[in-house]
Amino acid sequence: MDELRIDGSQGEGGGQILRTSLSLSMTTGRPFRIERIRAQREKPGLMRQHLAAVYAARDVCRAEVEGAELASGTLRFEPRAVRPGSYHFAVGTAGSACLVFQTVLPALLTAPEPSHLTFEGGTHNPHAPPFEFLERVFLPLLSRMGPRVTARLDRHGFVPAGGGRFGVDVASCKKLQPLQLLDTGAVRARSARSVICKLPAHIAERELTIVRECLGWSEEECRIEAVDAQSPGNVLLLEVTRDPTGELVAGFGERGVPAEKVAEVAVRRLLAYLEARVPVGVHLADQLLLPMALAGEGAFHTLPLSAHARTNVAVIEAFGIARFVIEERGRGVVINVRSA
Ligand code: AMP
Repeated sequence: MDELRIDGSQGEGGGQILRTSLSLSMTTGRPFRIERIRAQREKPGLMRQHLAAVYAARDVCRAEVEGAELASGTLRFEPRAVRPGSYHFAVGTAGSACLVFQTVLPALLTAPEPSHLTFEGGTHNPHAPPFEFLERVFLPLLSRMGPRVTARLDRHGFVPAGGGRFGVDVASCKKLQPLQLLDTGAVRARSARSVICKLPAHIAERELTIVRECLGWSEEECRIEAVDAQSPGNVLLLEVTRDPTGELVAGFGERGVPAEKVAEVAVRRLLAYLEARVPVGVHLADQLLLPMALAGEGAFHTLPLSAHARTNVAVIEAFGIARFVIEERGRGVVINVRSA
């Protein structure tokens, strides 16, 4: 197959362009060269966490790789057949292990054998899916497409120390089945969890007070989860469960940002999702594009597409596995997946 050229500076110009290209190269067998990697980020080029994704992808399909160095702006990746099995991948910093997992997962979903994976690094990072989002929102939907993917968190990993760990079992299937996520049911359950490590308990209490005040959630729906990790950390997770899928919004505690502010931002994001009356939230939308494209058909109703999602659409279409027809509906858009 001829080599595909990908411009890493297109659209939002971040790490997702690289990760989507790695995933699709592994699943299609098509080699690619990416230039101007993460050109629109403050520190462009490959960082440790992106290198971890490249190495993980390389190991799973014994790829030939050129340019896999820190700060490199160019990478060439030539895959061979995907090898399911047992793997252990460590980011080596607090970089998101969840994003490394999402890079190698697509190729293992339809591999001939199951896989057992462990990941080390950050499990709760700003600008990446927190572990619970994968466990409770993303993976249940993938499991409805045919494979069974289950994950368990062994240890939390927060910035700056990392040191988190989780395991994943992938029971693969022959072909991904399409999903239709067009309507929303009533909310069946809600929960607010303030996860806190090595920080005063009043931080979690103040976050949950805001949740009760602004959302009207009860004491029973709000809880503090004190955890142990290598460095202090705090994340507020707001979850709503409904059919055909729910949402889990995260607010990350930060030094210098009052706990009330962290909670207010998370509450606002959840309200924006609920008020739009769409099943698929903003992050799930960009993450569902790839598995849906591999299924070759399907549709979902979501909020107006983020720059992230639009860039992902462009990269997936460049690999020629599917195309997306996007129509406006209500306060959002419907994404229809068509075979290429
Ligand atoms: P990038 O910024 O290009 O490295 O990609 C970040 C990825 O993380 C995208 O797929 C986002 O949808 C995802 N992401 C960021 N924040 C969250 C969040 N709070 N919940 C779920 N996914 C997230």
